[in-house]
Amino acid sequence: MTRVFNFSAGPAALPEPVLRQAADEMLDWHGSGMSVMEMSHRGKEFIAIPAEAEALLRELMAVPANYKVLFIQGGAMAENAIVPMNLLRGKASADYINTGEWSKKSIKEAKKYAKVNVAASAEASHFSCIPKRDTWQLDPDAAYVHICSNETIGGVEYHFTPDVGNVPLVADMSSSIMSRPVDVAKYGLIYGGAQKNIGPAGLTLVIVRDDLIGQALACTPSAFDYKQQADNDSMLNTPPTYAIYIAGLVFKWIKARGGLPGMEVHNRAKAALLYDLLDASAFYSSPVAREDRSLMNVPFKLRDEALDEAFLKGAQARSMIQLKGHRSVGGMRASIYNAMPVEGVQTLVAYMKEFEARHG
Ligand SMILES: *Cc1c(COP(=O)(O)O)cnc(C)c1O
Repeated sequence: MTRVFNFSAGPAALPEPVLRQAADEMLDWHGSGMSVMEMSHRGKEFIAIPAEAEALLRELMAVPANYKVLFIQGGAMAENAIVPMNLLRGKASADYINTGEWSKKSIKEAKKYAKVNVAASAEASHFSCIPKRDTWQLDPDAAYVHICSNETIGGVEYHFTPDVGNVPLVADMSSSIMSRPVDVAKYGLIYGGAQKNIGPAGLTLVIVRDDLIGQALACTPSAFDYKQQADNDSMLNTPPTYAIYIAGLVFKWIKARGGLPGMEVHNRAKAALLYDLLDASAFYSSPVAREDRSLMNVPFKLRDEALDEAFLKGAQARSMIQLKGHRSVGGMRASIYNAMPVEGVQTLVAYMKEFEARHG
């Protein structure tokens, strides 16, 4: 068996020990005679699985007691609608910070439900930076302020938690959740699809302060009403059971590796290997302002894009896949989430040096 180094932006690589354990437990979970996939979500075997996953998530992220943790479906794209439906709470408008492709999608969707005020945008600089906090034109009457913590396509990431006063801060953390510690208490709501840092596609994570729920728009689907899901322990309808099980195994793996502080050390070390090379080279370049560079998604360009194809072919031959940049940006992108081992990035950096020596 050969495992590749998978630099996919998502669905992304999972920790190998987690996949091995899942394989071992596939046909018979803990003597139950069933796969987790085959269990009733209300059965006595299954019920401990989400409970343990939630407890681990709360411990790892130090989630305060007045926050609900929801395991639901729909992905971050659905949350772009579900968030305004639940969080407008009688207000007319919400503030959005536009830092790239995912922010733009959030803004577009929110406009169906709310008056959207784009309080700051990095569009003029081709989304190469996070707009400085002192330039944001926030509305004190906004229902919430929405940010995308890490722009998976453009490769910009917040390295600060913006102070937005008493207005709840909402963050799409799909591609950075659990990559390093965050102070959950500074947010009103955090959401993300699982398929980048947490587990398989199909699971969406929502962490929400409990005073913000219970005032959803009347048209909100029950399955997407945070209050109804919270009151039913995310079991109003069938939750993504197998994805929750895998997420629980990933949380255990994270805990065994020093929790989120451990992940931060691991992720900073990997990102530094790549950025140091990009900065030292005249052959490769990073389009992102230094202080806003993502630890998770590293877009880069070759000096001559005519070499892109040869670069990707050589990478593939060395078992490194999914390095092609997003079609809207071009060039390359290395996604180096929690599960990417340092050896994967070392292999990439060695190959980049070799390629530059040959073609530079
Ligand atoms: C992947 C991603 C999304 C989309 O998530 P889906 O699960 O496909 O809906 C949204 N926001 C960010 C930041 C992402 O990385």
